[in-house]
This record gives sequence, structure tokens and C-alpha cells, in this order.
Amino acid sequence: MDPVLAADLAALPDVLDTARRYASDVMNGLGERPVSPAVSADPRALPVAGRGFEGALAEFSERWADGFAASAGPRYLGFVTGGATPAAVAGDWLAGAFDQNPASRSGAEAATELERETVRWLAELFGVDGHSGAFVSGATMSNFVGLAIAREWLGEQRGISVAELGVGALGEVAVLSGAPHSSVYKALSMLGLGRDRVRLVPTLPGREAVDVEALEAVLASSGGPVAVVANAGTVNTVDFDDLRALVRLRERYPFWLHVDAAFGGFAALSDEHAHLVDGLAEADSVCVDLHKWLNVPYDSAVQFTRRRDLQVRVFQNAAAYLGLPTDDPDFVHLTPQNSRRLRALAAWFALMAYGREGHREVVERCVAQARRLGAMLAETPGVRLLAPVRLNVVCFAVESREVGEVLDAVTASGDAFLTPTVYNGQKAIRAAFSNWRTTSADTDRVHAAIVKALAG
Ligand SMILES: *Cc1c(COP(=O)(O)O)cnc(C)c1O
Repeated sequence: MDPVLAADLAALPDVLDTARRYASDVMNGLGERPVSPAVSADPRALPVAGRGFEGALAEFSERWADGFAASAGPRYLGFVTGGATPAAVAGDWLAGAFDQNPASRSGAEAATELERETVRWLAELFGVDGHSGAFVSGATMSNFVGLAIAREWLGEQRGISVAELGVGALGEVAVLSGAPHSSVYKALSMLGLGRDRVRLVPTLPGREAVDVEALEAVLASSGGPVAVVANAGTVNTVDFDDLRALVRLRERYPFWLHVDAAFGGFAALSDEHAHLVDGLAEADSVCVDLHKWLNVPYDSAVQFTRRRDLQVRVFQNAAAYLGLPTDDPDFVHLTPQNSRRLRALAAWFALMAYGREGHREVVERCVAQARRLGAMLAETPGVRLLAPVRLNVVCFAVESREVGEVLDAVTASGDAFLTPTVYNGQKAIRAAFSNWRTTSADTDRVHAAIVKALAG
């Protein structure tokens, strides 16, 4: 064995203990470090002789650590970014320590059973008990898997299997949506269906929710089979399509109903907001991100479907050594990956440690903080809210300065990180709350940073 590697093996408890102390300093300091520091990279050559763990940590700490954003902290409100709760981080570490490959039961029986249990818990949490599912790397991949199953269903309507014959055999199909996330276009590109298959359906006036009557008109006039991508939480204004109405429409015009509930699915945890995802259980496929509002470390999401038979047609990998898919297929037959990390373990720890109640509290506190910031910004001169705060995002325009200038000043303050968008043709700023640590004091500090940035 390489002597440096042998020394690390001999010192394994110290290696992990040093990492533990370092990591707990990082996590305890998240509220203090600049939220999104400026970085100048200075790439070095590949080491020939290794320096061991201590040497690597010293190098990392000196050259990289200070540049890392406090994206897991309470005032990073860009995109939709969760943090990582204590049990979730520990679960993630243990996934590394056990280093399982839950691709198939063979050789990893307990790990695959744990993932199955976690998927069942999540299905219950989001009210999609009738669905089966699997862990994937993020909502983009979850949308990809859902739309891959949709593609197979579209083929089924025409009496063919796209998995066998390819998309060339499919003919004209359409993907209808009111305000699809960019990842839907990316997924359609990867699926060979093409970004151009998206047919945008008008949304309700001043809203991002699809106009159900307009959708009905498109469905009534469409020639071929259709998939509908419904939104349960758009990124700009967290608007929700009327899922119940879509389900009723599907009774008259059969279509595949995929719901992108990347973070909006968490509305199911709150009594006040659960009605927003009423009907989710009837969807044919559902996407939910976990590295956002479940606050597990990147990367983690889950995909759900009621048509696992079609999913297996698309993703089966029937090598002799892997075994054929059964009616309870191994994960190797369900997603693009063969070998895969036990991502479920971090989520399992989070759910076991904090339960439905703990996660409900995080969701409700984030909503309360979004409302708080929204109320403060509504009273702030030079600021205009572009939508009511429906759940956990505040979307606002600034009048006296450019959006880019305001965002740069907020970032330079070190107190907050927000991201830009364009909503209704207007440049705007989003503040998205999905971190388990955010308190009213944090929200006040974010507001103060915005006010200061507006003053120039
Ligand atoms: C974040 C998000 C995605 C993409 O998620 P990734 O985890 O970044 O792949 C898709 N849809 C919605 C609505 C999202 O919020």
C-alpha cells in the first residue's frame, strides 16, 4: 500500500475526527461567513506524491474554503436552495462510509430496502401513496424520468414502444404547459423529443397558472397524443396549476399528466397550503426535489409514477449478471443510472430524526419569513411586488436602480444572496426561502441589505 495511504488508514479515527471538527465549525459559522464571497481561482498541478488527509485539508482550507458560498446558510435566498439539517448531513456521511450501491438487491439488499422504505415515506408525505418511485440526482433528472415514461405512454397510444423503436417511430406529439421550468426543455432535448415540442398554453391573467379553458381548447383541437406538464410551484411566483381541474380534463381528453412539484410539493405538509397540491395523487408522474425544501445535502430528488411498467420498458438493463426486472424491479431498471449512491440515507435520517412535524415546521417558518419580507418590501420606497407571496418566494421589481446593480450591492454586503429573473417581461429579483435555519432576524438583515443597496 502507498505509505501515505497506509498512514491515513492507521489514523482513520483521527482523519474522521478532524473532518468532524472542521465540518462542525463550518456549519456553526454559516450565519457569519459572507453569503456569496468573491473568488479568484488559482488552479494548481495534479499532485504526484500525495500529502495525506491532513495535507489535503490544509490545502483546501487555505485555498478554497473561504471562497465557498454560505449556500447552506439562512440568508442565501437565490434560486431555490435548501440547506442540510444535522441528521441529513450525518446520514450523507454514513452513505459515504458504507459506500453502498443500491442498483440491485444482489449484494445490497438492505440498502435497496432502505431506499424503498424512504420512497414510501416520501410518497405518504406528499400524498402520492399510490405511486412508486426512486431517488435521482435532482428535479431536472426527476422531470427527465417522468417525461421518459410519458414518451413511452405516447408510444403506447400509437401502439408502439419508443424504447424499442426510437423516437423516430413516434410521429407528431405535443407537450403542453403553461409556464414550464427550463429543465423541461432540457429533458425533452435529452429525450430526443426536442425542445420545440413544447406548446405553451396561455396562463390566467396576471398569473403563471395555466388557463384550464385555454388548455381544453388546445386539447380539443390536437391531432395526436399529448403530455401535459403541470406546475405545482413555479420558480418566479410559486403559482400552482389547478390540478383537480386538469385531472377532470384528462377524463375527457386522455393525456399523460406530469407534475413538476420540485419544491411546491412541500405545500402538502402545511394545513394552510395543502389544497394547492390537491389532485397530485392522480398525476401519472410527479417530480419532487429533496435538496431544496427537505434540506438534505446536494444532490437529491425523487421521481414518482403510477406506471412503473412503462418506466421499466424505458430503463431496464437486462444484463445476465444483473437479473431481469420482476414486478418489484431493482433500481437499476428504473432510472438512467446503473451504479448509484445511497442518496436515500440522508433523507431517511432527516425523516427519522425530525418526522413530518419537524419538516412541517420548516415549511411553515419559511412561508412566514417570505410573507414577512414581502410585507416589508411592500412598504419600501422604490420597490414593487410583482405577485402576492403565495408560498415561499418574494418576486419584486426595483424602480430607482438596475436589478444587476442592486443584486451586486446585496452580494457585496455579504449579508444576503438573491437572484434575478424576468417576470412578465420585466426585470425582477427573487428571494426564495427554503432553508431550515432562517429566522426573523435573518429576514430583517436581508431587508436591510436590500434597502442599503437601493440607496446606492
Ligand atoms: C429547481 C427546480 C427544477 C430543477 O431542479 P434541479 O434540482 O436543479 O435539477 C425543476 N423544476 C422546478 C419547479 C424547480 O424549482
